Amino acid sequence: MTAYAHLYGKIFLSGTMKVITGLHIGALSDSMSIGGIDSPVVRDPVTRYPYIPGSSLKGKLRSLLERTEFTRQRNGNVEQYFSRPGGGNVKHRHECTKPECPVCRMFGATSSKQDEGNNLPARLAVRDLHLTRESAEELKGLETGLYMTEWKSENGLDRLTAAANPRQIERVPAGSEFHFELVYTVTDTTQILDDWQNIIEQLRILEDDALGGHGSRGYGQVQFKCEQLVVRTLDTYRNGDDSALILDDFGEEFPLRSHWDQVAGLFANGFASQHV
Ligand SMILES: [Zn+2]
Repeated sequence: MTAYAHLYGKIFLSGTMKVITGLHIGALSDSMSIGGIDSPVVRDPVTRYPYIPGSSLKGKLRSLLERTEFTRQRNGNVEQYFSRPGGGNVKHRHECTKPECPVCRMFGATSSKQDEGNNLPARLAVRDLHLTRESAEELKGLETGLYMTEWKSENGLDRLTAAANPRQIERVPAGSEFHFELVYTVTDTTQILDDWQNIIEQLRILEDDALGGHGSRGYGQVQFKCEQLVVRTLDTYRNGDDSALILDDFGEEFPLRSHWDQVAGLFANGFASQHV
């Protein structure tokens, strides 16, 4: 059964993500012959620019939220939490399909059995992250032998035989900046603040964690700079206005919270003035 979901509007958070230590988000290694890199990064097929698939950031945020939510349940059963109702051997991923669950309502859930649980559409979408114009220009000038990236040798040792297993891993260099955008669909106006608190919290945790591969080797430290929060209600879309509200005063407090009365008013008004 598919849970019925309202659509009150959309909220967009955008800004830049800075790569603090070399970042590796791997593509399938079908291009081994090109340049002899064992582990290439994902690239746009047209421009050949390295980019970060939105699914990589979204997956990381989901796994961090699963872990923080599970931790907050304190006495939760790990086997039960990281599995799916109705069976399957899906482990290490949470999917309870309960509409009130902060993880499932944010990232979506599909029930493995028709008669158990709900299919929840994801509220959060993450756009692909592309290099800012300045970073792209800078990286084009790199002289590493690779287009816009660097490579790093990792010398893995086989723990049993002590045989060296050298590999070349391609990375997006430190200092590069990507544009990011998160798109949140408002399906329940009473959960907007809770959901966004979770998003912001996971972004902060991610800054102290790692994005992409080889995080334990120090890869993938990133830093988010939020620049703009845009709210669009149904009225915005119907009237063709650009946006109902633009917030760009990111200070100590997340602007959605400091402007909450205004935001709540927008959604309430949207309702009151429903076109008949
Ligand atoms: Zn859940």
